[in-house]
Amino acid sequence: MKVGVLGSGQLALMLAQASVGTDIEVVPIGHKILDKLDLYCSPIYGDMNDPILLEKFLAQVDVVTYETENVAIDLLKIISKTTQVWPGLNVLEVFQDRLLEKQYFERLSIPVATYHDVSQSADIDKAAEHVGFPGILKTRRDGYDGKGQAIVNSKEELAAAWDKFERIACILEGFVSFSGEVSVIAVRGTDGNSIFYPITENIHCDGILRLSTKIGESDLQAVAESYAQKIMEDRDYVGCMAIEFFVVDGTLVANEVAPRVHNSGHWTIGGTDASQFANHLNAITGKPLVSPTALSAVAMINFISELPNPSELNVGAQSLFHDYGKENRPLRKVGHLTLLGEGVDPKDFYQQIAKALTVSGEDALASEIMSRHVQ
Ligand code: AMP
Repeated sequence: MKVGVLGSGQLALMLAQASVGTDIEVVPIGHKILDKLDLYCSPIYGDMNDPILLEKFLAQVDVVTYETENVAIDLLKIISKTTQVWPGLNVLEVFQDRLLEKQYFERLSIPVATYHDVSQSADIDKAAEHVGFPGILKTRRDGYDGKGQAIVNSKEELAAAWDKFERIACILEGFVSFSGEVSVIAVRGTDGNSIFYPITENIHCDGILRLSTKIGESDLQAVAESYAQKIMEDRDYVGCMAIEFFVVDGTLVANEVAPRVHNSGHWTIGGTDASQFANHLNAITGKPLVSPTALSAVAMINFISELPNPSELNVGAQSLFHDYGKENRPLRKVGHLTLLGEGVDPKDFYQQIAKALTVSGEDALASEIMSRHVQ
C-alpha cells in the first residue's frame, strides 16, 4: 500500500524509515529539504499545490496523510475528492485555528487557559479585560515552534504586538504559570481501537521543544488518555495525535493538539517496540495497531540550530543519534538524541541527560535538570 505524505521534512523521513521492511511504501511530496529522504523512499519534489505534481502524486498513492497541520484546507478538499485523507478534514478544520481549538476543548469539557479572540480593534479592550496580563498573543493560524507569539504585559503592549502581526486574526491567552508541561501521543485505527504511549514531560525554550523525558510512570497518564480518547471518538479520528498540556496544581490544562506524529514522541523509536511512526502507518492503512511496550526510562534531546559532535555524546546511557541531514540555521531542529535508560537509577539517568545537554550547548537546561533531579 502506498501512503502519500504532504511534506518532506524530518517527520516524513521518520515515517519513511518506519516503512522499511513493511509492505507500506511512503511517498512524500514537497520541496527538497533533506537529501536523506531519498534513501528510504522516492519523494515527489516540488510545490504540492502545483496541479501537475499533485496529479502525479495522487495517481500513485492509496491514502494521504500530512506531517504538518499547516496545509491548505482547499488542497485537502481537492485530495479528498479522490483519495482518503487521514486524519480527516474535520480534524484539521478545528486544530489549524487556535480559537476554534480552544472552543472545541471547552465543548468537550477539557480545561484550557483563559483566552479571547483578537480579530478587530474593538477586541483589544475586551481581551485585555477578559484575560488580563501577562498574556500571550498568538496568531490563530500557521504558528509553530513559538513563531507568531508575543508575551504582552499591558494593553499598550497587546495593541503594539497585534500591529506587529499586521492585525491578522489572533487570540490572547492568559499566561499559565505551570509547574511543567507534558504531552500524550495517541493513535486510533480505522476499527476504532486506540493505543496510547506513556506521557512525557517536556521542556521548551523560546517556544521550541528541547527535552522530553519519560522516567517511570505518571499519575497524569489516565486523565491525559481520557482527553485524547474523547477527541478521537468525537472526530472519528484515524492516525496519530499528540496533545500538549500545561500541568497546573497537579491537573492538566490543554494547550494544543498536533493531529500528526509529534516531536515529543520521537523517543518511541527505540524507546518502545512500536514507534508512533509505525503505528501511524498501521492506523491509516487499516492495519491493527501494536500496543507499545516502553522502556522504564527514556529521554529525547532536540538539537537546535546545529548538531553536537556525536563522539562527545558518550554519556553512559545507550543512545540513538538522529541527524536529519539539514543545513544549520538558527532555531532550526537539525536532529535529536534518544537516551535509553532501562534499569538505570533515575538520578544517574538525569545526570546522563544533563551531560548530553551540556555537550549540545544547553548549559542552562543541564543545570536546571541537575538542580531539580540530582543535587
Ligand atoms: P505553542 O506554540 O502554543 O505550543 O507554545 C509553545 C510553548 O510556549 C509552550 O510549550 C509553552 O512552553 C509556551 N506557552 C505557550 N502558551 C503559553 C501560555 N498560555 N502560558 C505559558 N506558556 C505558554
